[in-house]
Amino acid sequence: MIDAHIHLDQYSDTELDKCIPEWQAARVGAVIAVSMNLASAHRTLELKKRYPDFVYAAIGYHPEQPFPHPAEIEEIFSLIKQEKEKLCAIGEVGLPYYSPHAGAWAEAYGELLGQFAALAAETDLPLVLHAVHDKAEPALEIILAQGVCKAHFHWLKAPDDVIDRIIRCGYYISLTPEVCYRKRDQRLALRVPLSGLLLETDGPWPHSGPFTGKRTTPLFLRDSIATVAALRGLAFAEVAASSTRATQKLYGIPEACSYM
Ligand SMILES: [Zn+2]
Repeated sequence: MIDAHIHLDQYSDTELDKCIPEWQAARVGAVIAVSMNLASAHRTLELKKRYPDFVYAAIGYHPEQPFPHPAEIEEIFSLIKQEKEKLCAIGEVGLPYYSPHAGAWAEAYGELLGQFAALAAETDLPLVLHAVHDKAEPALEIILAQGVCKAHFHWLKAPDDVIDRIIRCGYYISLTPEVCYRKRDQRLALRVPLSGLLLETDGPWPHSGPFTGKRTTPLFLRDSIATVAALRGLAFAEVAASSTRATQKLYGIPEACSYM
């Protein structure tokens, strides 16, 4: 199993030193650790150094934050170029939707996403996207315009026709543990072909339903796999294998890190 999207930098060193061996013992082979901003990118790179075969690092700027200062953008871009060999992706990037300032920032973030997309196309790194509801389609247009080949729409919520376009473009879509208790995500689990379906936790983001009050960790992947398997009438092992393979393929993770 691989957690296809987690904010690992938001867990303390003490927690990670204790938990990563437990996650590995539970057959979590790797995680895709995304960044929020420059400080988060530096911490994520440190974690990559500390757990090189378990952490696969991505650098970006999350769009649900105040628009970054040009100096921070510049530093993030040069860090991506400089550390390219240590990265598995550019992200998390995208368009704001939840922020109360989403409207005011929309244009600036659209431009910034275009720049990240151009760098993704140039470096051949996959793009990790936060682009939900009515922001999924404009984000799709932006990355297509820049010739992005590899992209992951994480925790996607979007109209069916947009979901289908994303699938036709060969991009990847992930489900969070919300699939265990929310109809919308369960419909998505049935709509996306297994070859393009990833599983993530977005940890430490707290989830509801059966996960209420529990610390979000990659251990939740097992519940998501069981739910997707039940929904699709497949064996647990089949969904574990397909989601692991899809994550390995997109992010270039060696097979030894699969575990299942
Ligand atoms: Zn995230």
